[in-house]
Amino acid sequence: MPSVRYYDWIAHFGRRTPGKIAAIDLASDRRLSYAEFDARISRLATHLRDKLGVKRGDRVAVLALNTTDTLEVQFACGRLGAVFLPLNTRLTVPELQFIVGDASPTVMIHDTDLAEVALTVAKLCNISSALLFGPGGSYEAAITASKPLERFENITHDDISTIMYTSGTTGQPKGAIITHGMTFWNCVNLGGPAYVSPSTVLLTVLPLFHTGGLNCYTNPVLHAGGTVLIMRAFDPGLALQLISDPAYGITQFFGVPSIYQFMAQHPSFATADFSRLVIGGVGGAPMPVPLLKVWEERGVALQQGYGMTETSPAVLALDREDAARKAGSSGKPVLHTEVRIVRPDGTDADVGELGELWVKGPNVTPGYWNRPDANQSSFTDGWLHTGDATRVDEEGFYYIVDRWKDMYISGGENVYPAEVESVLHQLTAIAEAAVIGIPDQQWGEVGMAIVAVKPGHTLTSAEIHAHCAANLARFKCPRLIEFVDALPRNATGKIHKPTLRRQFNAPTATDKLAS
Ligand code: ATP
Ligand code: MG
Repeated sequence: MPSVRYYDWIAHFGRRTPGKIAAIDLASDRRLSYAEFDARISRLATHLRDKLGVKRGDRVAVLALNTTDTLEVQFACGRLGAVFLPLNTRLTVPELQFIVGDASPTVMIHDTDLAEVALTVAKLCNISSALLFGPGGSYEAAITASKPLERFENITHDDISTIMYTSGTTGQPKGAIITHGMTFWNCVNLGGPAYVSPSTVLLTVLPLFHTGGLNCYTNPVLHAGGTVLIMRAFDPGLALQLISDPAYGITQFFGVPSIYQFMAQHPSFATADFSRLVIGGVGGAPMPVPLLKVWEERGVALQQGYGMTETSPAVLALDREDAARKAGSSGKPVLHTEVRIVRPDGTDADVGELGELWVKGPNVTPGYWNRPDANQSSFTDGWLHTGDATRVDEEGFYYIVDRWKDMYISGGENVYPAEVESVLHQLTAIAEAAVIGIPDQQWGEVGMAIVAVKPGHTLTSAEIHAHCAANLARFKCPRLIEFVDALPRNATGKIHKPTLRRQFNAPTATDKLAS
């Protein structure tokens, strides 16, 4: 079958609904109609090609806080057949040097706030820093001075659109190869009327360098001809204010659990107006059920979904009508996506039995950039091994229990930290909680809970022990409790357990795998 030719959706809606607002950059209050967005992308593509020498296959790096400019680079790269390389703004220079060295972009585009880091990394990696976003930056001047691109390169859905590095929650980030087809299928898979439509107004607060920010649901909403509002960096008070504001009419929002936690702890949560919000999506990490309940009490049935960078990202999603009844489940497979739950011996697990989730579909990566080792270990006959312990119930709803690597064994019994964390979150004084397994002479491993208490609240170890004893089997109860001011999180807001393991001297996931 011949490959499908790639043609982007901004060009499409630039003709179909030219005057409709495609994107609003909240920091600058710039509002771009589909026609304006399309024209800017077209001129940017000419500039990248003619002035910066970007050719088909070349990588174009972007290091910036959220801005609509980043989306323009994504689409301009697509029109040239170049590869968009969004970089994580919260990484240090050596971490960025690793990624930039690995992906070897031709140019780096950045913003003023990150100029120092961008220039340092560019110099260390011997690449040119080409354009500067923001008022007075060279980016605007380049767009103004360039002619529209005469035609798209002849590229297909099999060509690489993006290299996106995974969150680095379990180790070194891996560059997932994302093809145009994968992004397209994610738009299709999330594009049913239950999710996005031309009347969707999305507030994007997650970083655009992460698949959650870019593809849940920014790209799908643009693919449907809707409107996206881009927040420069997540601010819980501002998010609540915008969602409440009828002038914006926000219908859709997506966050990782910590985003919802921060919003729920904000003083204006109690009075915010969620009446226009049709979808509040959550995914990216285990979502404590007590937090789902806090939102439910405010009339918002958060819809949990499950995905990965490697699956661009949607794999499972919970529909609105099931959200309250099936709280805690990540739902069922999205359109055009197959899943299996597999035992360690490669056979399929029964209903209710825990196994590793495997995924197959046109939204799944063909592999990792420069990682033959990971490509070898992560796939079986085209099925991607997710590394996530999962079970399915009789009605076909999937539950992501935890990462296999975070599971520990206490006295011969498997303990999944996410379950223990969810119980800890029932204590209203707890702001954040993480559980790790640490070595123990008698039991092999025992649980350690690392807890941050909300300001103005008090909580003792004895109270935590008593709460766990009342709600968890003995082997699941953490033996040790450590109090901290805040938990270490990665750029996406996920708790970074390798840091906790280092800090509290537990074996790392790599040590565990090696043993
Ligand atoms: P790395 O692969 O570099 O260690 P990462 O796995 O956190 O980082 P992402 O691709 O951002 O990188 O995240 C995908 C992972 O997030 C999944 O494999 C799963 O462990 C977790 N996850 C996503 N959605 C959910 C969910 N609804 N419930 C529990 N965990 C989830
Ligand atoms: Mg991962």
